[in-house]
Amino acid sequence: MWLGFDYFFRGGAMKKILISGGAGYIGSHTVQALAEAGYGPVVLDSLISGHRKAVGESIPFYQGDIADAGLVTDIIKKEEVRAVIHFAARSLVGESVQKPDLYFEENTAKTNRFVSTLLQCGVNTIVFSSTAATYGNPEEIPIPEESHTEPINPYGASKLMIEQSFYWLEQAYGLKWMALRYFNAAGAAWDGSLGEDHTTETHLIPLVLKTVLEQREAISIFGTDYKTPDGTCVRDYIHVLDLAEAHIRALEALEQGIPCGAYNVGTGTGYSVREVIAMAGKVTGLDIPVLEAPRREGDPDRLVAKVEKIQRRLGWQARYSDLETIIKTAWQWHQKHPHGYGD
Ligand code: UDP
Repeated sequence: MWLGFDYFFRGGAMKKILISGGAGYIGSHTVQALAEAGYGPVVLDSLISGHRKAVGESIPFYQGDIADAGLVTDIIKKEEVRAVIHFAARSLVGESVQKPDLYFEENTAKTNRFVSTLLQCGVNTIVFSSTAATYGNPEEIPIPEESHTEPINPYGASKLMIEQSFYWLEQAYGLKWMALRYFNAAGAAWDGSLGEDHTTETHLIPLVLKTVLEQREAISIFGTDYKTPDGTCVRDYIHVLDLAEAHIRALEALEQGIPCGAYNVGTGTGYSVREVIAMAGKVTGLDIPVLEAPRREGDPDRLVAKVEKIQRRLGWQARYSDLETIIKTAWQWHQKHPHGYGD
């Protein structure tokens, strides 16, 4: 008797999902979304940049390294893990330029060891956290997935190498994989309980909101002479809750046999740095001091996703990613947690 897709995937054989980096920003929102959708998320996080408080007490949690084959094997056996969503990584572009060896070790080499362990344990389904940084300076906007990939920093290169290794692991061992190339993740949980908290904050929206909270004197605009309508860089901001949902769709799609590969996760619409600051002023009702600063190294003028592929094949579409909703939810998080998780 055929018990149906839902039985096998949600209720039965596929229920337990291991989330590496589940205590990080995007990971923790995905863990919550999985739990709400009826899956059994299990978290593995080194807590180097993640936060224990970002994972609910009822979720099985393991502190450790993805390259620790013994630990990963034990978790898979004990928790009966059926698939993996892999977030654990270093993700600071500037740091990657300073320490490329760290990025190729922590991201590329450790992922290779992690996936080898997964395959040895019979787990062959993985959704991977990739990035628009794999494209480098895009030739075409919006950027289609088949665009030329030529990263301009070691962070993007370390992620692209993982995507390429997955292709060969698929040919050799039948790995079922999807790489989600995120554009600019932003926003926070509806209830303000989860949000963005990086030890070294470099991202525009949290820095603007920290300026509103008077934790910083002003927000610097990095470059005002880009080839964009107002001279500042344009980015495709995607709500972290939309991203979380994309991971669940990707898992389900892999189970249904949809081809492996890389998928953009964005909205297809870009906003400039000035537009983001103006929206933050509108949402918070406060004036935001601005400083015009030189360009930041390695920033392309515009990064906007072409999103037809993920819409068509995964039936996914951004729902919460209008700029106002993104900034409202992020503002709620920052007001409730002016010092992040406090750990
Ligand atoms: N940015 C800025 N001031 C800041 C931080 C960022 O002008 O203090 C700009 C940055 O140059 C880029 C955009 O905001 O054009 C988004 O940067 P972010 O670091 O948030 O994300 P990225 O695009 O680097 O992934």
